[in-house]
Amino acid sequence: MDTQERADFINPEEIEALLKDHQAPAPARVRELLAKARELQGLSMDEVACLSFVENPELLAEIFSTAKRIKEEIYGSRLVLFAPLYISNRCSNDCTYCAFRSTNTDLKRRTLSQEEIAEETRILIRQGHKRVLVVAGEALPPQGFQYILDSIATIYATRVAPGEIRRVNVNLAPQPTDRLRQLKEAGIGTYQLFQETYHRPTYAEVHLKGRKRDYDWRATVFDRAMEAGIDDVGIGVLFGLYEWRFEIMAMMQHIRHLEKKFGVGPHTISFPRMEPAVGSEIAARPPHPVSDADFLKMIAIMRLAVPYTGMIMSTRESEGVRRATFEVGVSQISAGSRTDPGGYKDGEGDPNGSQFQLGDHRTVDEVVGDVIKLGFLPSFCTACYRTGRTGQDFMDLAKPGEIKYHCQPNALSTFQEYLTDYAGPVTKSAGEKLISIELEHMDEQQTACALPMLNKVRRGERDVFV
Ligand code: SAM
Ligand code: SF4
Repeated sequence: MDTQERADFINPEEIEALLKDHQAPAPARVRELLAKARELQGLSMDEVACLSFVENPELLAEIFSTAKRIKEEIYGSRLVLFAPLYISNRCSNDCTYCAFRSTNTDLKRRTLSQEEIAEETRILIRQGHKRVLVVAGEALPPQGFQYILDSIATIYATRVAPGEIRRVNVNLAPQPTDRLRQLKEAGIGTYQLFQETYHRPTYAEVHLKGRKRDYDWRATVFDRAMEAGIDDVGIGVLFGLYEWRFEIMAMMQHIRHLEKKFGVGPHTISFPRMEPAVGSEIAARPPHPVSDADFLKMIAIMRLAVPYTGMIMSTRESEGVRRATFEVGVSQISAGSRTDPGGYKDGEGDPNGSQFQLGDHRTVDEVVGDVIKLGFLPSFCTACYRTGRTGQDFMDLAKPGEIKYHCQPNALSTFQEYLTDYAGPVTKSAGEKLISIELEHMDEQQTACALPMLNKVRRGERDVFV
């Protein structure tokens, strides 16, 4: 059994003091920080505080353009796609913002069988997906934790020629180290978990029952994950519960703690904003709503602060907001999502079984088509984790900008797979044009790698990566 540690790395006094000291920053100071961020060195806590108070439209535009530039420098034009796969909405906790809370008697409860999970997986494969995020409430069926392990195995074992899911990430309640080790052995990519709020009093107010009431057990899970050998972890906050400036500063403390202790920070940061949910009053009226303008600002600031970290945007947000976030640093997006177990098979998504209301209802093909139009390159790549480029190895590669010699060719080959096997005619023709344009913009080294890979895919080979 793990000894319970206290998450002392979250220091609210330090956050409050920094936020107090850095209000109304001078334009010269802001520009100095932007120049520093352009060097891809990241930002310190006081610098994040300072930028969070920028309101001047001209300076804001400079923050946005710097974030875009940094994202392009490290990740190129790629946007990686994934889909969530909800396997169970049974939950023993009572989080006031979530439709799965145990006290919500209006919710239709469902835990998918392995055959149902295979069916959902087949649908996602037929849509062209290669990565899924397994999501569940915190109440295990009689098989216990083995259910989760079996579900991961089922997803990996399901195949619909010529495709399969190649990376399974998870968003699951905090686990002790031995179970995290089992998740690692089951082949998960990222272990993702959101702290919801780093503000202890708010945390206590919104988590009424169950194991989730324990702030420290949750906040220390990435320490256990890293000890269990999972070096890709994904952090996040449910925005709307507490003041967003406090939350991004606390995320910075969490990131710096992991970097200091394990030599590597989180692989991804997610930015879920609270959406209406059946059986939740607070979800309809978040106590600290984040405006679209602040939402974009915080995403851009985090891109400057932790330039090498993947940033995820889900379908909680509308098409318009999602598009705007692509311009300020987001590098991974979900598409065609359902948040009710069995929702892909059932079609529309059942509001009485779903976790929250979605903002983007488009199909994968529509999202891919839109991403192309916006000038981004949709990627279904899963190579990094399968070649062992995770944790510190990933960061070492990412830091000198080398990722573009792996990720860009891999993005093109997996995008070509998508176009050949799954795209509608309009997306296919736009996508083929995009591939030609991307090839023209590549340097010799990239082309020498990418072209033979593309040709292999065009000749019928699949899962071609470097
Ligand atoms: N049950 C586990 C947990 O709570 O950590 C894992 C899965 S939970 C279904 C996934 C995430 O959904 C939560 O961490 C929370 O941030 C988010 N969520 C819950 N209610 C939401 C809402 N009303 N709007 C947007 N996101 C919500
Ligand atoms: Fe359960 Fe997670 Fe929803 Fe809380 S957020 S009620 S733990 S599913």
